[in-house]
Amino acid sequence: VQEENHFRNQHGIRVVGRHIPAALPDFSILIDHYQVSEAFVNTIKDCGYAEPTPIQRQVLTCMLENRQILACAPTGSGKTAAFLIPILHMLGAPQGGPRALILCPTRELAKQIYREALRLSASTNLRCSVVNKIQESKIKERESTIKKSDIVISTPNRLCYLLNIENINITLDKVKWLIVDEADKMFEGSAEQDSDFRQQLEQIMTRCGGRERRMAMFSATHTPAVGKWCRHNLRGLINITVGQRNA
Ligand code: ADP
Ligand code: MG
Repeated sequence: VQEENHFRNQHGIRVVGRHIPAALPDFSILIDHYQVSEAFVNTIKDCGYAEPTPIQRQVLTCMLENRQILACAPTGSGKTAAFLIPILHMLGAPQGGPRALILCPTRELAKQIYREALRLSASTNLRCSVVNKIQESKIKERESTIKKSDIVISTPNRLCYLLNIENINITLDKVKWLIVDEADKMFEGSAEQDSDFRQQLEQIMTRCGGRERRMAMFSATHTPAVGKWCRHNLRGLINITVGQRNA
């Protein structure tokens, strides 16, 4: 335990929670300890990721052990790959019908996450798609794209809009991982916007796969609203923080 804490301290990782998995020394360890394929680890390295960033060291092992997390680390610290790597591994073979859902505040960010997902999924046949604004006439096409996707990336707005259209039938009951990226941005804003997001999140959560469903929240800053929401809603929560603890 002492060694483990020493390793975390060296990398500026702080954790709160019970039975926290050890932080990851190296991507190669994933092969022996988590049955990650060599091909996938090579893809990660081909992306230019020689070593995990501090937030990745702790998020990867937590998510691979199915733990729900709130992860806070500064902008540019590699949070995107921190959630994409475990998801891409755990989904295994493509099935179609979303099994991972990633929510983020803007379309631009959704596209960025999508691009990183494409790079990291090079050695897999998993399918990934972004839900963006489309013409009325193309909505049925979009429905079928989502039904074929293993991973779906969307803003809460767009997704809820689609979910509420009559004769569009998108099921999220196979969703095993629900990711909220930039959770601080999603929960912030005026009281109205805030409750808007909470309502949307609630609607999405109730549609996502029952007891099997896990959530992971990512944020650049610590905000009381997000912390409180996670403590109330995420069983067995692990708080992971890297860098400054700014409220
Ligand atoms: P955040 O979401 O924390 O702001 P990003 O996920 O956008 O950060 O990552 C920032 C940059 O760091 C991206 O260009 C990404 O490709 C790169 N990156 C991610 N993980 C690693 C790594 N392990 N080694 C080197 N670069 C990385
Ligand atoms: Mg990010």
